Amino acid sequence: MDADTSEGYRFETLAVRAGQRRTGEGEHSEPIFPTSSFVFADAAEAAARFAGESPGNIYSRFTNPTVRTFQDRLAALEGGAACVATASGMAAILSTCMGLLKAGDHVVSSRSIFGSTTSLFNNYLQRFGVAIDYVDLTDLGAWERAMRPQTRLLFLETPSNPLTEVADIAALAGLAHGGGALLAVDNCFCTPALQRPLTLGADLVIHSATKYLDGQGRCVGGAVVGPADLVGKEVFGFLRTAGPSMSPFNAWVFLKGLETLALRMRAHSANALALAQWLEGHPRVRRVHYPGLASHPQHELAARQQSAPGGIVAFEVEGGREAAWTVVDRTRLISITANLGDTKTTITHPATTTHARVSPEARAAAGIADGLLRLAVGLEAVEDLQADLERGLAALA
Ligand SMILES: *Cc1c(COP(=O)(O)O)cnc(C)c1O
Repeated sequence: MDADTSEGYRFETLAVRAGQRRTGEGEHSEPIFPTSSFVFADAAEAAARFAGESPGNIYSRFTNPTVRTFQDRLAALEGGAACVATASGMAAILSTCMGLLKAGDHVVSSRSIFGSTTSLFNNYLQRFGVAIDYVDLTDLGAWERAMRPQTRLLFLETPSNPLTEVADIAALAGLAHGGGALLAVDNCFCTPALQRPLTLGADLVIHSATKYLDGQGRCVGGAVVGPADLVGKEVFGFLRTAGPSMSPFNAWVFLKGLETLALRMRAHSANALALAQWLEGHPRVRRVHYPGLASHPQHELAARQQSAPGGIVAFEVEGGREAAWTVVDRTRLISITANLGDTKTTITHPATTTHARVSPEARAAAGIADGLLRLAVGLEAVEDLQADLERGLAALA
């Protein structure tokens, strides 16, 4: 089933079948094409290929059949016309910026974004004359006030990391388009299984495939999905020239990940909701941040915008950093790592890891308390996860 004939099929079907083009061997599973270049029938075909007059592969920095299958499948799942796969999530963000921005442009970004994205914007993009302003994710008025005639891009992640704040994608898309700008959504936390930003009006979706698209913590990769002109032409133009391309092997692993994405995201969400509800009733826990709880400030927006609340839960323990570290150190099952989107549950202390470079004042302003912990809830039995957290929580008494 080609991506172009996939219309009408439902998400679960597309996740398993979209983008596959069987070779003459009749293979059932998608093949991996570990080849750097491709051969031509004759000199005339080589010339036509290079001139762009005849479609087809030339070199794997530009296109590769396994990578194309992943791109077509993810494009079908996000509901976008074009997808460009990249070597990492950061390469997807870089390629988007390099493909679509120029000196003199202005970007408005949520303050609550992945740390390396902030570094990319501040340490590199600004050097090339692109100005950046940061605003609070959920403050629509702040986004509006930050926009200028030069504003070309609005950038956000929703839900945010680690506090799971939820942005109104449709409202921000309207704001972006009213000012002649594009809206890019890093859809890493939800994946298209739970949230489809393009259907809500966003122009571009960005992925770190490293997380839930793989889903089992194996490969690093990324992707950009959006319209044919912006992504298929501009972002792809940068990728084929500069070369932050996805390897065929990684594309194959991500393809296999997409096949179980909907099942996994439902299971991650169910486990996370059970843990969040249990934590909310725990006497040593001051506060739980999870879009699936009625106590979450954007609970209703999340229920409208997402088909499930996702796998990320943040909670604050009484007793600050020392108490938080006790909970981390008493775990025997949960992995102490900042990665997320794995079948294995992970725990992080944001104030001393992912957000350690942020000043204590800025951290406090952002609500990242010293007692805050972030869970990326995996697929283990929820009772075992509770018991693992209870060891540390009980020790706080
Ligand atoms: C991990 C992550 C990235 C960067 O992806 P890499 O694959 O590590 O380069 C970008 N955005 C979000 C939200 C992430 O979690």
